[in-house]
Amino acid sequence: MKVYNFSAGPAMMPPEVVAQIQAELVSYRDSEMSVMEISHRSVLYEEMFQTAKADLRELLAVPKDYKILFLQGGASTQFTTVPLNLARKTKNIAFVDTGHWSQTAIADARLVPERRVDVVASGKSSAYTHLPHEIALDRPYDYVHLTINNTIEGTMYRKLPELQGQTIVGDISSNILGYQHNVQKYGLLYASAQKNIGPAGMTLVIVKESLLDKEQDLPSMLDYVKLIKRDSNLNTPPVFPIYAAGLVFQWLKKQGGVKQMQQQNEAKTALLYDMLDNSKLFLGTAHAPDRSLTNVPFTTGSKELDEKFITQAEKNGLKNIRGHVLAGGMRASMYNAFPFEGVKALVDFMKAFEQKERRIYATTMK
Ligand SMILES: *Cc1c(COP(=O)(O)O)cnc(C)c1O
Repeated sequence: MKVYNFSAGPAMMPPEVVAQIQAELVSYRDSEMSVMEISHRSVLYEEMFQTAKADLRELLAVPKDYKILFLQGGASTQFTTVPLNLARKTKNIAFVDTGHWSQTAIADARLVPERRVDVVASGKSSAYTHLPHEIALDRPYDYVHLTINNTIEGTMYRKLPELQGQTIVGDISSNILGYQHNVQKYGLLYASAQKNIGPAGMTLVIVKESLLDKEQDLPSMLDYVKLIKRDSNLNTPPVFPIYAAGLVFQWLKKQGGVKQMQQQNEAKTALLYDMLDNSKLFLGTAHAPDRSLTNVPFTTGSKELDEKFITQAEKNGLKNIRGHVLAGGMRASMYNAFPFEGVKALVDFMKAFEQKERRIYATTMK
């Protein structure tokens, strides 16, 4: 049976890339050593790293005055690292609360000493189905933090809110390389790898260098200035995840880059959103104008029916369709590597399920 993996992360990778990893795993570039065994001070590694970095710069059209870091610790470590490095002048940070990941970022920023953390807008009143677009700032901030794609709630900012020239920091963990972000609109962007790039263990930070304080002296692994100086090679970098990410970047270039990915993601999600909009059983939970291009949460409105759907979907090869524990219901995550046929298979299955359920319902009501 054909299996489609709808996991939100770690998520499916391009099958061609996984096959390439398998083929090269024992001997990397005829070195008779596995990529998992090579030194991070070797020419082999240096070439691999520089190629990956240059490819990412090209794919995201990162301007010259921005530096790219390949780090560890996941997006979650950036919840602390960003405040330490960027909240140094006014020491005020503004957050927009758009759901779980923004709240986690807020909680960690509050633990960084001497910072003032303000939640300047929230989607709470809509249960995070809507994104706040009108944001008023009453004081100067070092930056405003936005979770650009909300992986659990299934919302995304297509257009950034007006923020009066304030520096914007964006968490793009779940739609990096799947949507054409305009890097120049941000002071800093960060993303972990395991959603739309490759295996977990690598985190990307893209930062406008002029925002950094050259005189700062933070613990090494949390100091962007020191990390930039050593080109992300201050301690042992995650060689294998960087290698896998590099292959994904090459795959993306062959596919036509981020523009092409965005078009495909629009087409994939449109198919599912269209089904949801016309369904009498299923309901998409995110507000239509704020809908994500990568994560689509939906429900029948009934816990038992959701459970029945998830069980049957699993049996039919539609894997990991269960929603996040906090959200319940279902969620289909369809990142770059996820094929259009997989969405088609899900939509067909949903239609068949809906028909069957409506027949059962009609019979029991007689
Ligand atoms: C998954 C995710 C995170 C957390 O990433 P980790 O790498 O597990 O720390 C943070 N923000 C967003 C938007 C996410 O989707």
